[in-house]
Amino acid sequence: MKFEESSSVKTSFSERIMLWYSQNKRDLPWRNTKNPYHIWLSEVILQQTRVNQGLPYYERFLELFPTVHHLAKADEREVLRAWQGLGYYSRARNLHKTAKIISTDMGGRFPDTSLKLLKLPGIGPYTAAAISSIANGEQVAVVDGNVFRVLSRVFGIHDDIGSNKGQKLFYGKANKLIPHDRPDIFNQSVMEFGAVHCTPKNPDCGNCPMGVECYARINQQQDNLPVKSKKVKVRQRFFYYVCISYNNSLMMKERKGSGIWRGLFDFYLIERNEQLEFNDLLDDPILKRLETYSDHIEESKPYKHILTHQHIIAKFYTVHLHQMPKETDFVREGLALYNAQELIELPKPVLISAYLKDSFF
Ligand code: SF4
Repeated sequence: MKFEESSSVKTSFSERIMLWYSQNKRDLPWRNTKNPYHIWLSEVILQQTRVNQGLPYYERFLELFPTVHHLAKADEREVLRAWQGLGYYSRARNLHKTAKIISTDMGGRFPDTSLKLLKLPGIGPYTAAAISSIANGEQVAVVDGNVFRVLSRVFGIHDDIGSNKGQKLFYGKANKLIPHDRPDIFNQSVMEFGAVHCTPKNPDCGNCPMGVECYARINQQQDNLPVKSKKVKVRQRFFYYVCISYNNSLMMKERKGSGIWRGLFDFYLIERNEQLEFNDLLDDPILKRLETYSDHIEESKPYKHILTHQHIIAKFYTVHLHQMPKETDFVREGLALYNAQELIELPKPVLISAYLKDSFF
């Protein structure tokens, strides 16, 4: 027998995967709720990290912001701080923005269809489908990396998951398979099956409920499916941080503009296109001036921070000042002194936290 397009296949695939789910699912807190706020939080957090790492974030968010109203009323800095370490801070800002809309414009009630949910900041097709299928029982399929993998392997779909055609095909396929009476369980089943059984490397084909009919297994195509040809262009950036230390405090500034770290705090930054030594950076007027007021300057080891589209190589120069130079325009740079307790509480990129942990805390 082979999985093909027919109604019996729909029953067969859906039933088998849901049976597998009922016997193998991990017991996770967001699996026992239909509360859209809880589901939304879990989905947004899990887009950033694996379940084990995401769980403490989920619990912390609910502890700090038990309802959408609490999240809406929170200061952005608190939200960023709770999100710290997950990366892609625009997601945390959108979470906050959307909480405000739901709390103030919608009386705290989440929209009851995926189409309405899609209009909210930061909610894409995946999150909208996850919230609405689980909270409202809407028959709409969730399509994430796990779903692409499972469907492409089981049904032998070779279309590029990054192409429009491929996306259409996978969404169409998933929406054909989803049963009208259990959309919530079906969606969670496919995602869980992809996450723990039909994994990217070493899928457990020997113990698989789809094993006999699975296209990838029969044709030994597990390593070639799904097809993803779009290559991400990675940009290399070199950050030289000047960490100004004075009177047991450090100077930091809030990042402005539209970058991914907007709203987070870091040090005075000199960015260059290449790997350089300290002396090469002395063309920077602030660093040059600081040098004359310092007792000594410590150089850190290089830190590598990998993001999807960029690799950042950072070095930190801690400048220990014996006197604060009055004429240096720290205010214009947005720099201010923070003591140890304040430093702990500021929202920071993970790169900065790693350096502070290694050097100061
Ligand atoms: S047989 Fe292997 S490749 Fe096919 S669905 Fe099962 S685990 Fe995945």
